[in-house]
Amino acid sequence: MPSAVIDSAVMGNPVMTQTAEKTNLLGMSLPMLQAYFQEMGEKPFRAVQVMKWIHQRGITDFAAMTDISHKLQEKLQLEAEVRAPKIVEEFLAADGCYKWIVEVASGSRVETVFIPESDRGTLCISSQAGCILDCSFCATGKQGFNSNLTAAEIIGQLWWANHRLGGFAEARPHAGKTNRAVSNVVMMGMGEPLLNFDNVMAALSLMMEDNAYGLSKRRVTISTAGVVPAIDRLKDFTDASLAVSLHAPNDELRNQIVPVNRKYPIRELLRSVADYMASLPDKRVPVIEYTLISGVNDHKQHAHELATLLQDFPCKINLIPFNPFAQSDYRRPSNNAINNFRQILQEARYTVTVRTTRGDDIGAACGQLVGEVADQTRRSERYRRAALESEIQAQTALAASQGGSRTFTRADNLAVPADSRKPN
Ligand code: SF4
Repeated sequence: MPSAVIDSAVMGNPVMTQTAEKTNLLGMSLPMLQAYFQEMGEKPFRAVQVMKWIHQRGITDFAAMTDISHKLQEKLQLEAEVRAPKIVEEFLAADGCYKWIVEVASGSRVETVFIPESDRGTLCISSQAGCILDCSFCATGKQGFNSNLTAAEIIGQLWWANHRLGGFAEARPHAGKTNRAVSNVVMMGMGEPLLNFDNVMAALSLMMEDNAYGLSKRRVTISTAGVVPAIDRLKDFTDASLAVSLHAPNDELRNQIVPVNRKYPIRELLRSVADYMASLPDKRVPVIEYTLISGVNDHKQHAHELATLLQDFPCKINLIPFNPFAQSDYRRPSNNAINNFRQILQEARYTVTVRTTRGDDIGAACGQLVGEVADQTRRSERYRRAALESEIQAQTALAASQGGSRTFTRADNLAVPADSRKPN
């Protein structure tokens, strides 16, 4: 079954009038909203009423918030708004995954993915347009960096998914948070969430707030490449679950795959994660994410080394077979290599899962998210140039192997098209 591209108009973006001077209430945590109403001379309980309308019933029009006075409705209409980011495109994969292209204030486009399963619905949310960290297996990293998303743009992805998937008890004041399509959230979309700390923390607090989405802390996961000072701060702001992108069992290899490791090496990272987990009141363990890349980090000796590295570090291990994308020479490992790797870890008594590839026909699989990022780092340009050079070399070598002596140049129209990063 082919994937579908659904027109933005058909999706029914809610009508939202955008006025620069108005305060957007969408990304405000409960304390922020209470302070806002207090400043207006209103009672703090108004914050709970309005929050429920926005985040539990999906209502953006103050006039439809029937348990607040007409006078306050009018005041809010003048001064405030509830503005979700604009969804410009929707893709539906053959396996039921959705991908939405979200336009953010900076003009960049980021991606949000919904993965339905029999017992849960997981939303993968982006926190930045692009990413500065440039992990070698990740399409987002190849794009450079443009901007941090605001708290409204982050929580707006969850708001949108509920709106689109019928997860809101719309206009039913007493329906509460029933019938939620999204049961789990992972901050594993585009960007390193801990490099957009304040906005991500505000959005996380809304995800777990009883008067908003009320998701359990076990069902909200921050995934980090290992920004140690931010992990050290985390316990003062949230008790969400944690996933760590490790991807290598030693510093030498991890320096190549996850360059931030040069600044925060593995021992320091594991110490920081262990401290955070110890600060949580319940017994939870972090998930170690390990992308298996053929011939790079998928040898049996890597699995043994990983088992030794983590022997005093309670965790679960999630193996992610590499998902190919343009601009990467990496290959997905064979099923045999994946099974061998898993077996070694299981024999060492780790709980190991192998992530099933979902949504790859719409470029929604792990590591494939790209959006459109107006790169400020010029990294995307460097990668395009490198891809062009390697294509030229390959064409020249091919010509030589066929008995020709021609040297190809850039003028031979081998240029990588600007949109070659986009899936499909
Ligand atoms: S894997 Fe995450 S941290 Fe690394 S480049 Fe991609 S988005 Fe950034």
